[in-house]
Amino acid sequence: MVVPIIFGISDIPLQVISKLMPAIEEIEKPNCDEVGLNVSKREKKLRLVLLGTGFAGLSFIENFNNYIPTREKDSLELTVIDSRDYLLFSPFLYEVATGQINESHVLVPVANKIGSYGYKFIRADVKRIDPFENKVITLGGQFPYDILVIALGSESNDYGIEGVSENAIPLKNIEEGIRVRKRILESYKKAINIETIGDAVDALTTVVVIGGGAAGVELSASVIDLFEGLNRNRKNRIVRSKVVLVEMQEHLMIDQGKKFSNRLERMLAEKGVELQLGKRVVKVDSDGVILSDGSKIASQNIFWTAGVKPSRVISSLEDKFVNVKKGRVVVDPYLSIPSFHNIYVVGDSALPPKSLEQDFVPQTAAAAVQEGKFVGIHLAHILCGKSKKDVFCYRNHGVFLSVGHRSGICKFSTGLMLTGYSAWAVWGIVHLLKIETLKNKLDILFDWTFARFHLETVSGIT
Ligand SMILES: Cc1cc2nc3c(=O)[nH]c(=O)nc-3n(C[C@H](O)[C@H](O)[C@H](O)COP(=O)(O)OP(=O)(O)OC[C@H]3O[C@@H](n4cnc5c(N)ncnc54)[C@H](O)[C@@H]3O)c2cc1C
Repeated sequence: MVVPIIFGISDIPLQVISKLMPAIEEIEKPNCDEVGLNVSKREKKLRLVLLGTGFAGLSFIENFNNYIPTREKDSLELTVIDSRDYLLFSPFLYEVATGQINESHVLVPVANKIGSYGYKFIRADVKRIDPFENKVITLGGQFPYDILVIALGSESNDYGIEGVSENAIPLKNIEEGIRVRKRILESYKKAINIETIGDAVDALTTVVVIGGGAAGVELSASVIDLFEGLNRNRKNRIVRSKVVLVEMQEHLMIDQGKKFSNRLERMLAEKGVELQLGKRVVKVDSDGVILSDGSKIASQNIFWTAGVKPSRVISSLEDKFVNVKKGRVVVDPYLSIPSFHNIYVVGDSALPPKSLEQDFVPQTAAAAVQEGKFVGIHLAHILCGKSKKDVFCYRNHGVFLSVGHRSGICKFSTGLMLTGYSAWAVWGIVHLLKIETLKNKLDILFDWTFARFHLETVSGIT
């Protein structure tokens, strides 16, 4: 099992590697002095490579940097690779898509921060990882590593459903957020210029959101607000809109419990979102969406939030050594790959073992931050000779959702549930505290206060 690991780490003998990599059941990692990874005692610099500066990657680097003593830092070389030089604060992406927040305000710059820690940031698209040769292959060159941390997130998954990739816009990155906004605004402008009421106008003013997870729920409620905002100054010629949320499960976010689910469905219905539950999308074409019961929803605005799959780089890793389940790499309790213990996987790409509270760790920013922090501290500890006893344990702090402007639903880990304005205030405070820089926080507060004027600017409709 460990044979593949020894290629490429010429200066770390096999016994050392196998000592560093205990069986999954083993709780205590060995002391690094024993295994030779204590950086201060190595002759050559230890090469650490981090792929991805999203929630998991950034949390890794911040915690690693906090916990690694300066003298050990000099004995290692940390290279960070990402195809973009910012973190996208995805919890606010739907607000970009509905014109409430300026797109630049949800992007947190990362390159300077990484540089200020004394690490190297390289902007490159990772193509492949060769775990046998300990190399990361990018378009711009190859990067050898002794220890690799993969934090590449996930990609939108259309599950191969006919017409989705051609006719529906996913909501996963900033470009897609802007595309969603443009599509709704273009449709609205076309609709107000058509004189007669009929099917053509209906298709332009019907929005279909596919996928009733957190992103789909927040987007559909917010689209209602967007139409209301656009109609506000058009007393004579308002556009009648319809927002449909399609979910293949019988209930929305049922993993949060029946009470949460019922309440959420009621709130959305009161807001004006039409729910199509227990129905699968079988086809999307240029005119609309066809559901599993044979019905068709005519729409020119179809948005996809129905699921994710691993990054292409992760898929290319899969072979008899790397187990990819549910589209995520199965990792051990230390978040390393069982057959390649010098490779850690964190964030959406990782499937950690069952934790105390849940069957699996969810693919959320909150979980990604916890995983990044765990590996950051864990590696800093073992690299400077301390042993680390804990294994990763995910802590669920609750669910916080906005359901349109000034309304929300929260469920804390204690089971306490809040709805309405207070829940929206909690949601806002939690997320504002989490977004990284003071500038981002102030910009977003400004956008929320003057959302109406921002909408007028981006839409060109007054
Ligand atoms: C619309 C939306 C709303 C969401 N809302 C919430 C929410 O409210 N709360 C919550 O907890 N979670 C939310 N999530 C989920 C959350 O965004 C993810 O779980 C989280 O981003 C995962 O973190 P990560 O570090 O694994 O990946 P990411 O944050 O996606 O980071 C991955 C990084 O890897 C880089 N990368 C990927 N592939 C390559 C490559 N080939 N080469 C180089 N670099 C690459 C990317 O550029 C990116 O910087 C939301 C997601 C979406 C899409």
